[in-house]
Amino acid sequence: MRSSLPAWVAVGSNIGGPVTQVRQAMAALEALPETRLEACSSLYRNPPMGPQDQPDFVNAVVRLRTSLEPLALLDALQAIERAQGRVRHRRWGERTLDLDLVLYGEQRIDHPRLVVPHPGIGERAFVLRPLQEIDPGLDVPGQGVVDALLARVDDAALQRVN
Ligand code: ATP
Ligand code: MG
Ligand code: MG
Repeated sequence: MRSSLPAWVAVGSNIGGPVTQVRQAMAALEALPETRLEACSSLYRNPPMGPQDQPDFVNAVVRLRTSLEPLALLDALQAIERAQGRVRHRRWGERTLDLDLVLYGEQRIDHPRLVVPHPGIGERAFVLRPLQEIDPGLDVPGQGVVDALLARVDDAALQRVN
């Protein structure tokens, strides 16, 4: 593999069999070119963010090691979303699959299509808790260490899926 970096992807689903969708997405990430799937968190059930009249989400975070450039990785994530039937209904609404690139190495990216670290990371227990499970000491550029960020949010509603 060319020089590669770790990249963290948040996986979420709340329709179409969310647990199956998340596992299928992990398999698709593992199959990406120039990419290894290094770690997967547990799956967590979580109430929806945004519109409340939709099913609970199932969320997880994975760590990849990839030599895909950030925008190429985003293209690949969006292709997996489409392959799993992602349709855009409403902001933060129901979806078969959401794949967000939360961190890419230690990089900060501000591009019209891609902002890294993902802007929601610091407030989202459903990202921070699974991220803490796989990389508790990780530094989020400009924000601090994952453990400390998680201590600042309310994660009481998250339930680990068996
Ligand atoms: P949120 O990003 O707040 O979690 P969302 O995941 O529902 O909301 P999407 O509809 O999946 O939002 O994505 C909207 C756009 O966000 C995408 O077309 C993509 O270009 C852009 N985007 C910007 N930064 C990122 C990122 N770090 N990861 C994924 N998409 C991103
Ligand atoms: Mg999202
Ligand atoms: Mg998204």
